[in-house]
Amino acid sequence: MEDHTNPEIKGGQGQVLKPETYRDSIGTMEQSGKRKWVFPKKPKGRYTNYRNIVAYTLLLFYFALPFITINGNPALKLDVINRQIFIIGQPFYPQDFFILTLGAIVSLICIIIFTIAFGRIFCGWICPQTIFLENVFRKIEYAIEGDRNKQMKLDRQEWDSEKIWKRGLKWTIYLILSLIFTHFMFMYIVGYQEVFRIVREGPFEHPTNFIAMILLTAAFYFVFAWFREQVCTLVCPYGRLQAVLIDKETINVFYDFNRGENRSKWRKGEDRKAAGKGDCIDCYQCVVVCPTGIDIRDGQQLECVNCTACIDACDEVMDKVGLPKGLIRYASEKEIETGNPVKFNARMKGFTILLIALQFLLGYLLYNRPDMEAKFIKPAGSTFFVRDGKITNTYSYTFLNKTNEKKIVNIRIIEPTNGEITSSGSSKIIVERDKIVKGTINVSFPESQIKLSKQNIELGVYDLEGNLIDSYKTYFEGPFKIQF
Ligand code: SF4
Ligand code: SF4
Repeated sequence: MEDHTNPEIKGGQGQVLKPETYRDSIGTMEQSGKRKWVFPKKPKGRYTNYRNIVAYTLLLFYFALPFITINGNPALKLDVINRQIFIIGQPFYPQDFFILTLGAIVSLICIIIFTIAFGRIFCGWICPQTIFLENVFRKIEYAIEGDRNKQMKLDRQEWDSEKIWKRGLKWTIYLILSLIFTHFMFMYIVGYQEVFRIVREGPFEHPTNFIAMILLTAAFYFVFAWFREQVCTLVCPYGRLQAVLIDKETINVFYDFNRGENRSKWRKGEDRKAAGKGDCIDCYQCVVVCPTGIDIRDGQQLECVNCTACIDACDEVMDKVGLPKGLIRYASEKEIETGNPVKFNARMKGFTILLIALQFLLGYLLYNRPDMEAKFIKPAGSTFFVRDGKITNTYSYTFLNKTNEKKIVNIRIIEPTNGEITSSGSSKIIVERDKIVKGTINVSFPESQIKLSKQNIELGVYDLEGNLIDSYKTYFEGPFKIQF
């Protein structure tokens, strides 16, 4: 039998309090530092059903997204090494890095605001770690080894044929699943066509990819077959941030201690109120379902991933003993203490204003992102030459087409207006979608117009209809003249 007990002390008004010794250690570790394996009971109930729907929808999305294209581009591709980044089908280049950075900051602030208001809903409902573990790997474990008690029994028993067969089958399926999941992960980086090609051609043709895949699969297997909830309780920085983000008005999975204490075992026909007992019948069902091995009745803990399993477990118990559901529920600490609903406090208002402002800025930058990025650079060591009363400078140009269509463009001088471009081909330059085109042009001005040895000029890239696509400011060199 597992030891669920915690030393108890008596608090005010006869309330049973536990010394907060549980905060001194991790629930999944023995005093000796040895890992305490968690065998959570299979959760069932209203929230578990909702979470299953969300999880399987997201899993479907995970498997489908690498094959979805928007305007011929992958919906999501993060090939940083080859600089091929597509988000919602939009190509992003190193030049757009600041937009991506701003997007990441906006997302971070969004998560912060969300966490302040709704605690760790992300962890319980959306986090890939929770979804893979609870909705894929743990389900297989339940199917092969049975529920909590059977798993514990199997764990204790010798390595007989039953244990070898069940564990062997489970670990083999885990390995195959890890391989599948990592192949899909690779598709998000190099694209599904590339993954299919690598698989077809085999590991000897692509040893680097093969090694990377093996390492990623091993890491995936290690996390879901062994490390499991330790990711949430020891590694995840988001989990550690909770302590500074949440306050008494944050909505979280909470045990209603006002209603539940004094906890005491259920006795049929007893008037618990008259006996000074709370609604918690101390059945430990909320503890045995917890995938991080904690007791929610001890209060808010960093280990709690808000998975709602304890809500469902307790509701089922309350149903059976004829008490109202919701002894464990989504609530704020303040709400439980005072009975008053949560308020939109000043800190949340401040964050929300900041978030809206940043989103406007992000939208503005995205909307005003030029279709084409043009650069005109003077080649290293080049200067000017004078011929037929004209001064000429040479420029190397680079055009990057960020759109999904071919662009035919020409180059014109915007400022000063009396120059000319003498290079052939500059009136019709073809830039294919998502491609970079490079070339050289000569820009000339009448000698009499160039008064300075270094003069600012602006060059423009226009489409065939005469619309300006992008412009670039640079300088024009001429002979040094003494000004009187
Ligand atoms: S499941 Fe409910 S009644 Fe049972 S121990 Fe937990 S809080 Fe108390
Ligand atoms: S305490 Fe409840 S909500 Fe938190 S992790 Fe455990 S079972 Fe999930």
